[in-house]
Amino acid sequence: MFNLEQALLYARENQAEFISSLKQFLKIPSLSRDEGDPQAIQQAATWLKQKLSDTGFEKAQIFETAMHPMVFAENLSAGPEALTVLIYGHYDVQSPKPLEDWQTPPFDPTIKGENLYARGASDNKGEVILSISAIESILQAGTLPINVKVLFEGEEEIGSRNMRDFLKTHKDMLDCDFCLNLDGGMAEKDHPGIIYGLRGAVTLILKITGAEKDLHSGLYGGLVLNPIHVLARLISKLQDEQGRIQLPGFYDSVRPVTAKEKELIAQSPKNEAYYLREIGTESLWGDPSIAPLERCTAMPTLDVALFQSGQVKMAIPSTAKAFITMRIVPDQDPDAIYEQLLKFIAENIPDPLTWEIVDHNKGPAVLVNYDTPYVELMSSALEAVWGRPPVFARIGGGIPIVAMLSTELGVDSIITGITLPDDNLHGPNEKIHLPTWEKGLEAVIRFFHSLSAV
Ligand SMILES: [Zn+2]
Repeated sequence: MFNLEQALLYARENQAEFISSLKQFLKIPSLSRDEGDPQAIQQAATWLKQKLSDTGFEKAQIFETAMHPMVFAENLSAGPEALTVLIYGHYDVQSPKPLEDWQTPPFDPTIKGENLYARGASDNKGEVILSISAIESILQAGTLPINVKVLFEGEEEIGSRNMRDFLKTHKDMLDCDFCLNLDGGMAEKDHPGIIYGLRGAVTLILKITGAEKDLHSGLYGGLVLNPIHVLARLISKLQDEQGRIQLPGFYDSVRPVTAKEKELIAQSPKNEAYYLREIGTESLWGDPSIAPLERCTAMPTLDVALFQSGQVKMAIPSTAKAFITMRIVPDQDPDAIYEQLLKFIAENIPDPLTWEIVDHNKGPAVLVNYDTPYVELMSSALEAVWGRPPVFARIGGGIPIVAMLSTELGVDSIITGITLPDDNLHGPNEKIHLPTWEKGLEAVIRFFHSLSAV
């Protein structure tokens, strides 16, 4: 067991060390998508493995997958009778583009005021370092009250493509009582949150091809279909003016929110005024008969995140490409939705144009059980630090491993975190609020301390 006051003191006194370690980690541009440098991903994994060994984990190791490696380590010193937690995080990051929107370089972590700016600062390297720092502080003040395993992946931002296979092949190694997932976030500044529901996703890159090459629009205009026009028409048919998706039967399996959830939504600080403020817009878009928070957490959506084709020249381009991203909800089946989408595409691309799916990914939505003793202890730990109980909510984003852990290992996740709504995840000038990071560290240490009583 460890001494709580001593661990908290160590955490406070070593703040600067922890943050300098985080800065080192943030300097590695570990982009998981194609445009990234595969060496940087390897470098981040190796760095983490070393960090875990230095912190007192045994068996810190890297597992190669078909794409980016997993980093795993454990400290089972609490013994076979004790509980085991699996701490999850990811070390890959999203593209920082467009670079000109950044006020400081994305991979040159910079502290301004109370914030640390860098790509990955809050999604999710800040929380990875937070969890390691919590274990370090505990080990400096005694022993771990429960067994700890950690799993950090390098593919979260591209849909955790190799996670399911990894979980299946390493069931024994990953065996645990629950998962602690710090990839969630705060409900608002100074108000912690626990997340019990996540949306799933179906994404694809569609490429439409017309003529073999770009054609002079003066010589051939009027004779060939333009792939840009076809793609634009297809996209506009996918949803109506209020965003209702037009795939046949698309809403049939959407599970309605319960009366209790309606109440949580009504009480949430995330009302219309909140979103208007956060987004900086004068009005919200979408079905007005559904509350904004419900629309962006419990309803499915479709967005085109990239539309690419053509040049500034008077020519008919030969190809057009779009990245179509959908967020799906319980109980929609990602495979069925993907098939619906393909059918819709096939029906809406006239001959003689051809089409192909360049890349795709899909995963289900999930609701986790939050009526567990572990969630209750986490809730108390958060309350002890922030002086108010956490908000329980669904979020609109997804963390693929949560559903996979539940189906493959039968393990529930506690999803919380320290990200603030204005931390710009995936956007320019991503940051982490350092005082909130410090509080999060204290909360995790308190949580571990309370687990010794379970
Ligand atoms: Zn992310």
